[in-house]
Amino acid sequence: MSKRDYYEILGLSKGAGEEDIKKAYRKLAIKYHPDKNPDDKSAEEKFKEAAEAYEVLSSPEKRQRYDQFGHAGVGGAAGGGGFGGGMNMEDIFSQFGDIFGGGGFGGFGGGGRSGGRRVMRGSNLRVKVKMNLKEVAKGVEKKLKVNKFVSCHTCKGSGAKSGQLEVCRLCNGSGVQVRTQQTFLGAMQTQTTCSGCNGEGKTVKDKCKTCNGDGIVREEEVISINIPAGVAEGMQLSVSGKGNAAPRGGINGDLLVLIEEEEDPELKRDGNNLFYDSYVNFVDAALGTSIEVPLVEGKAKIKVEPGTQSGKVLRLKGKGLPDVNSYGTGDLLVNINVWTPQNLSAEEKKTLEGLRDSKNFEPNPNRKEKGFFDRMKEYFE
Ligand SMILES: [Zn+2]
Ligand SMILES: [Zn+2]
Repeated sequence: MSKRDYYEILGLSKGAGEEDIKKAYRKLAIKYHPDKNPDDKSAEEKFKEAAEAYEVLSSPEKRQRYDQFGHAGVGGAAGGGGFGGGMNMEDIFSQFGDIFGGGGFGGFGGGGRSGGRRVMRGSNLRVKVKMNLKEVAKGVEKKLKVNKFVSCHTCKGSGAKSGQLEVCRLCNGSGVQVRTQQTFLGAMQTQTTCSGCNGEGKTVKDKCKTCNGDGIVREEEVISINIPAGVAEGMQLSVSGKGNAAPRGGINGDLLVLIEEEEDPELKRDGNNLFYDSYVNFVDAALGTSIEVPLVEGKAKIKVEPGTQSGKVLRLKGKGLPDVNSYGTGDLLVNINVWTPQNLSAEEKKTLEGLRDSKNFEPNPNRKEKGFFDRMKEYFE
């Protein structure tokens, strides 16, 4: 990603207008165009850099974020629209191909739409979904109320009063106009987006009143989505075709579902494993006992052997969370903490004083119990 200032790249000042930005980009794009600079890496870099600057500054939303936060505001973050690893040539041609139209530098391939009609695509719809541990463990069907663009009911999405679109007369439905013109590089065929239909190949003669010819209206809709078991905070699911409808019968956008995980009060999560901290009375630790531990669903009784040390970890196989890609199920690890009594009564003190000098009460560092380091190593293996 370029770290140069986008205004500087385009040779503009901060207050530059939309037209100035377009003109400045066009100039640079023609100057550094790969057709004119074959095998020139630095020209290609400049071409890409200009495209990146234009992509941001030509969008009022992105430009505002850039003005406010600089490059960080328009980086690869979610919703930024994506410059994770810079732009590739194909992106540039397919996104900004239009800008070369009508001005005498055309004919380069690589675009996503060389010839053929433009198919409108609805924008993606983003929603957040909260999941508790039980839902993560089993997967869940969520019903979400969303406000989105749907196909206009009056005109069935056509945008035309009659419900019928007419083939564009300027381009005969192809969506493009081809012109041959003389340029400094010789005769060139310029293919531009048809101005009559904006590349759609069809026109609306009498606009539908409900949607003003767009073919889409805003509406509240309940969408039901199935969220698989094992998802985690920050994961994004994409449901194809459930996003916003496109103008005049194009392709629907996608629904992007961002997972937000609610913290469980008892069970902590690490990947597919769960952890529980259990406290055992020190007499119970010495004599042995059985304790109850919470599971995602219900409880389990587990045995604590006589002589159990504080920090002992008991592993309940398969009581963790299922893997989102179905690679098995995690475990529940129960950490035994031996609770040392506080605020003893005089009588309790007396009893314990009597035990203080017992040989069995002496800590034995040579015991065969695993220490903290060994337990951690075992866990992360
Ligand atoms: Zn309509
Ligand atoms: Zn047309």
